[in-house]
Amino acid sequence: MSRSLCHRVAEFGGQPTQFVRNLGTALGLALAVSAARAEDPPATPNPLDRVTITDLKRHCGTLASDALEGREAGTNGGQAAAAYLQSELRKIPGITAAGSSGWVQEFGNNFRNVLAVLPGSDPELRSEIIVIGAHYDHVGRGNQTNSHGPLGYIHNGADDNASGTAALLELADAFAALKTPPRRTLLFAFWDAEEAGLLGSRHWVTHPTHPLKDVRLVVNIDMLGRLREGKLIVVGWRSAAGLRSRLVRHNPIGDLDFQYEPKVIADSDHYPFYAAGIPALHLDSGKHDDYHRPSDDVDKLNFAGIRRLAEMVFHLVHQAANADRLPNFRREALTEVAPAWLTPRPQPAPSARLGVVFDVQQFAQNRAVITQVTPGSAAIKAGLRPGDRILKIAHWDGDQVNDIRTIVQVAKNPVQVRVERPGTATPVDVTLGLAGDPVRVGVSWELDPAIPEAAILTRVVPDSPAERAGLKIGDALMQVGGEPVETDEKLRQQLLTKPNPISFKIERHGRVADIAVELFEPPSVP
Ligand SMILES: [Zn+2]
Repeated sequence: MSRSLCHRVAEFGGQPTQFVRNLGTALGLALAVSAARAEDPPATPNPLDRVTITDLKRHCGTLASDALEGREAGTNGGQAAAAYLQSELRKIPGITAAGSSGWVQEFGNNFRNVLAVLPGSDPELRSEIIVIGAHYDHVGRGNQTNSHGPLGYIHNGADDNASGTAALLELADAFAALKTPPRRTLLFAFWDAEEAGLLGSRHWVTHPTHPLKDVRLVVNIDMLGRLREGKLIVVGWRSAAGLRSRLVRHNPIGDLDFQYEPKVIADSDHYPFYAAGIPALHLDSGKHDDYHRPSDDVDKLNFAGIRRLAEMVFHLVHQAANADRLPNFRREALTEVAPAWLTPRPQPAPSARLGVVFDVQQFAQNRAVITQVTPGSAAIKAGLRPGDRILKIAHWDGDQVNDIRTIVQVAKNPVQVRVERPGTATPVDVTLGLAGDPVRVGVSWELDPAIPEAAILTRVVPDSPAERAGLKIGDALMQVGGEPVETDEKLRQQLLTKPNPISFKIERHGRVADIAVELFEPPSVP
């Protein structure tokens, strides 16, 4: 318990209030557990072993306990939380205080950011800072503007944001356990008064304890406690080139499902940095029914999920802190509209190359029987009619009916068609010119300056080899035929010349997959 709090209690008539009694119990418990922890074996070679579910539970259990009364900034509960953070940070060898006075940076109405630093090991790069931030305050008993109700009850804020605060404490511990600290300096920032309007992070940006110009990257973790199906909300990935692929690198088994948010809004502490032109990522495990309600409790937290996300943040920050270079802020990010491929809309059906509709039942029996012929289409010009059953078209020989549409997409003109026509004894052969150009793969793309290592698919032609292979709009195409994607022209050549099937390495929602795209080309004549 911090000294100032005892004095404050003394001021109010000397008798310890119910609050302090509760607090005593909660912290007594926490201290007992940490005393036990002191016997932990010395730092193991894998610093991530320091990130334990036991500790995450201890931190969340304390921060989200009723004793801290919902940790509203400036209140007893809020300050007790700050005291707890300091007592935990003091236990970590190598981590030092980085506030304006000791661990804290006081501001506003009794608000205090808690700041800790792990100095960088590289004489050149240690002046550069990576900020890992999490707000530790919550809304107390809630009010009309910050609670979804019911009001008047302690809003424990287990997910928001005891979970991120606990992860940040554990990350400090893990980084401090590294044999050699990262090359750049790490600032662990526990923001206060986030719920009151990002006041802690805004204050730091206007009163930085390290030169703002030296802050190269911010990683903000707020609500990591409810990971479901691996879904992780990712914000700010367009604020510097390559941030997306830096994240993807740390999802090697693809257990996480990145939800790339198009916009950056002022809904957590990454925002003041973003607005100040500093690359900033925000990560959260998504909203839920208990958000900003008294029911946001510890028993609903997914601790394995918190640990998994802490592990990912560790690798992300470790890699960035040791990189030779870090990307600068993309000014365009502040004004650019979200790329259309981020929220794919139904694509207008391309004009049909052949222009027929098949009978669904017959199709299910592997028979391509025409029910409709589109006016003005290649089919009607060649005299195809409803009732005709296509036996052969181009290099489709009637085997897999599901392939007929794809072969129509890839076939080069002129095309030979053989149909069985009711009332005609022998099959009818016609030659026709399919509309439009054939596709080889069937994708359009754009090179996105925020994602330099890939081309983003902006169109996947229906029934094309690409669609058959499962490619989707928004996929980040990283490699074609084992070669990296570089320029538009090079990619065009790769798609035109790579042998069948073409292997694609794509990234979708943070998961990387190798996909073989079968091109449905005509059998090569010996
Ligand atoms: Zn929050």
